[in-house]
Amino acid sequence: MRVLKFGGTSLKNSEKFLSVYNIIKEKYKKEQVAIVLSAPAKITNYLVKTIEYAISKNIIDIKKIRNIFFKLINDLKCYFKKLNHIKIYKKIKNKLNKLEQLLYGIKIFKFCPDIIQAKIISIGEKISIIIMSNILIAKNYKVTIINPIKYIISTGKYLESTVNIKKSMHKIKNKKIPIENIVLMAGFIAGNKKKELVLLGRNGSDYSAAILSVLLKASCCEIWTDVDGIYSTDPKNVVNAKLIKNISYKEALKLSFFGAKVIHPKMILPLLKFNIPCLIKNTLNIFSKGTLINNFNEEKKSIKGVSYLNNVSMFNLTILKNKKLSYIYSKLFSIISLYEIILVSLCFLENKIVFFTKNINVKKIKLILEKTFFLEINNKILKKIKIINNLSIISIIGNNINSQFVKIHKIIETLRDNFKINILYISQYISKNSISIVIKNKNIKNNINNLHQSLFDNFKIINVFLIGVGGVGETFLEQVKSQKNILIKKKVIINICYIANSKSYIFNYNGINLKTWKKKLIYSKLKFKIEDFIFNLKKYRLNNSVFIDCTNSDELAYEYSNILLKKYHIVTPNKKANTFNFEYYKKIRKSSDISNKKFLYDTNIGAGLPVIDTIQNLLNTGDKLIKFRGILSGSLSFIFGKLDDGFSLSESTKKAIELGFTEPNPQDDLLGLDVARKLLILAREVGYKLELKDIKIEPIIPKKFYKNVKKESFIKNLKKLDVFFEKKINKARKKGKVLRYVGKIESDGICKLSIDFVKKSNPLYEIKNGENALAFYTKYYNPIPLVIKGYGAGKTVTSAGIFSDLLKIKPCKWGF
Ligand code: ADP
Ligand code: ASP
Ligand code: MG
Repeated sequence: MRVLKFGGTSLKNSEKFLSVYNIIKEKYKKEQVAIVLSAPAKITNYLVKTIEYAISKNIIDIKKIRNIFFKLINDLKCYFKKLNHIKIYKKIKNKLNKLEQLLYGIKIFKFCPDIIQAKIISIGEKISIIIMSNILIAKNYKVTIINPIKYIISTGKYLESTVNIKKSMHKIKNKKIPIENIVLMAGFIAGNKKKELVLLGRNGSDYSAAILSVLLKASCCEIWTDVDGIYSTDPKNVVNAKLIKNISYKEALKLSFFGAKVIHPKMILPLLKFNIPCLIKNTLNIFSKGTLINNFNEEKKSIKGVSYLNNVSMFNLTILKNKKLSYIYSKLFSIISLYEIILVSLCFLENKIVFFTKNINVKKIKLILEKTFFLEINNKILKKIKIINNLSIISIIGNNINSQFVKIHKIIETLRDNFKINILYISQYISKNSISIVIKNKNIKNNINNLHQSLFDNFKIINVFLIGVGGVGETFLEQVKSQKNILIKKKVIINICYIANSKSYIFNYNGINLKTWKKKLIYSKLKFKIEDFIFNLKKYRLNNSVFIDCTNSDELAYEYSNILLKKYHIVTPNKKANTFNFEYYKKIRKSSDISNKKFLYDTNIGAGLPVIDTIQNLLNTGDKLIKFRGILSGSLSFIFGKLDDGFSLSESTKKAIELGFTEPNPQDDLLGLDVARKLLILAREVGYKLELKDIKIEPIIPKKFYKNVKKESFIKNLKKLDVFFEKKINKARKKGKVLRYVGKIESDGICKLSIDFVKKSNPLYEIKNGENALAFYTKYYNPIPLVIKGYGAGKTVTSAGIFSDLLKIKPCKWGF
C-alpha cells in the first residue's frame, strides 16, 4: 500500500485533476494506493473569507466558490467522457446550499463557533473526494471512501486537533478494504470522540496523509505538490534554491516548522515513529525524482536549508526576585503550552524568559499573563512584560549545525554587517539541527536571498554601485548588459544596484533594469550628494559590494579609504586618489588590507591595457625596473602622429578634439598634467615614493600660453605655435626621427615628460593614432624591453578595463 496525497496546487483545475488521475492510474498498476486530497487551491481561503464577510459585512457571497466548482465539473467532461457530471453537480449543489444555510445563521448571530467554522472550511476537501471518486468510477475502478470523522480520531480544538494514533488504529482495524480497491480520504478532516468534525489545522492534509500511511501500514507516503521537492529555501522566492534529494525526518521537521510550507511539520513525527519514508513529488513534473525524507543519517556536517516565518512577536519576561521562581516558571509554561509557541529560551543567569509566537496570538497571551501575574508584577517580583511585534525568524537548518561554530559565527556576522540586519535574538544553543535568528520584519525576502546566496550559491554575484555615467560609465553599463547571458553561463552575475550622476541616483537591491536605467535616472527624485552616499554606505551594502568611480571627482577620491573600510571593493579609472599625497596613497592600501577588499585601478594607465597587473606580476616574481619609456596619452599619441603626416599642431589638435580623443578641455592634455599623473602612478607602483610635483613636465606649449584662454579661442591661439612645431618636426625628420611626447622613469627614480626625437629602432617610433605604448626595461627584460601597446584611451577600452577589473573580484562565500 502506498499513500498519495495531492495538495490544493495539484487540484487547481480540470487539467490538474487529469494529471492526478494519470498518476493514480500508473501507481495503481504497481500496488494498492490510498489517495488523500486537499481542497482545490484557494478554496479554503475563500471559505474562510465567506465567514468573515457574513460576520463583518453582513454579506453572503459564495459566487466565486460556486463558479470554480461548476467550471471544474464542466471542464472535466472533456477529459472523462463517462463522468456522471449531473450526479456530481447535484452533490456539489447540495453542499453549497448547506454552506449558504450555515452562513445565514452566522450572519444573524454575527458569530461563528469553531465547530461551524470547521464544517464550513472543510467543504473543499469533501468536494474534491466527490469529484475524484466519480472520476475513478467512470474509469471502472473500485473505490473505498474512508470517512475521516469516523476513523481519524483526534483530540484538541475544533480547528486544530491532534490525532490519537492508537485509537484511530483501533477503529480502522474493523474497516474492510478490498485489495483491488482504490482508497480515498479527504485530508484536513478528523473526528473527535463525540463524532464531531474537527480539523487538523491549516495545511493539515499532509498530516492526514501521514496518519493514513501509519494506519494502513503504507510502504511510503507520497506528497504531490507544485514544486519538485523540498528545496534549500522557497524556490518561489529564490531563483537559485537547490533541490534537496535526501533529508532526515528531523531536518525536514525543522525546515517546515520554521516556515517551509511545502510540508506540514505535524506529518513528520508519525512517519518517523513508524519509520515510513516520505517522498515529495511534483504533479507537473512527474519525472523529477523529488525529495526523499527518511532516516537518512548524513555523517558530514551540512547546511540543508533556510526557512523563515513572518509576523512573529517576542515576549520578554524578567524575574526580579528569586522568590517565586518555580511558581512563575510552571505557571508560565502551562499557559504558553496552550498556544503555538515557536521558540522559548530561558536565561537562568539573568532570570529571563523569552518566547516567540505568531502576532495573532499576542493579545490573548498578553491578557492571560498579565491577569495571572498581576500580583507579581505589582509587587515587582516580575518586570512588566515586554512585547515586540512584527518580527521575522530566519532559521538555518542542517545536520549538527550548532557544532559548526565558525560557520555560525560567520553567518551571524554576515547578517549583521553585510545585510544591515539588526539581530534581536539568536537561538544558538537550543537545537542541534537549527539556528534561528530573530530580526525585524522588513526586507525579509531580500535578506533570505542574500543569506541563501552566501550559504549555497556557487554563482559569483557582484553587486555594483556606480557613480558617474558619462561616456565611460554609460559604456560600461552597455557592456554589462550585452555580456549578461555569457556571464551567467560562467556563473557570474553582475548586479547593478546603484547608479548616480552628479544630480541624482537610482537604487535597487535586486538589480536595476539596464534597459531603462537612463530614463529612471533622469526622472529620479533622489538627489545625489557625496556625503549622503558615504553616510549610507553601510546601509546599502550587500554581499560582495563594489564601488565604481567613473567620475573625475577629487571629493570622491578622498573617500576611497573610507569606502574600503566600509567593506566595499573599489574599481576606478579615476586617477585622483592614486596621485594625491603619498600619505593618502599608503592609507588606501592599508584600508584595503584591513578590510580585505580590493582596490583595482588598472584603467588609471593605458585604459584597458593590462599595465598595473603586469607590473605587479613582474615585481612579485623578483624582477626590477631599470628604466621606463612610454607614450601614455591617447590624445598626444594622436596629435604627434598627425605631425608626422604633415599636419600642423593646431590642425592635429582640432582633429583630436573632433574624434573625442581629448579631455573635455584639450588644454588639460597639452599641459601634460594628465600624463604626469599616469607617470606618477607607474613610478609609485614600482616603489618610488614620489609626489606629483616631483614629475618634471616639459609642457607641449608654454604655460603662459594658457593664461586666461577660453576653450573656444584655444585652437585659434594654438596656430601661433604651428611654425615653431613645424621647424621642430623638420629637424627631427632630417635625422630620420619623429617627435613623441615621452614619459620616462630613470634608474635613479627621476621622472620626466618631454618632447623627444625618437629614432626608428625605438619601440615608440611607430606609436601614433591614439595608441599607447609602455616599454619596461627590467632586470629580466633587457636589452629588449617588455612592451605593452594598444589603444590607451576611449570609452570602449576604458570600460572594458573596468569590467575586467571587476571580474578579478573573487567573492567570498560568506560575504567578506
Ligand atoms: P500544496 O497545495 O501542494 O499543499 P503548498 O502551497 O502548501 O502546496 O506547498 C507548496 C509550496 O511550498 C511551494 O509552491 C513553495 O512555494 C512553498 N515552499 C516554501 N518553502 C519551500 C521549500 N523549502 N521547498 C519547496 N517549497 C517550498
Ligand atoms: N485545504 C486546507 C488548507 O488550505 C488543508 C490543506 O490544503 O492541506 O489549509
Ligand atoms: Mg500544503
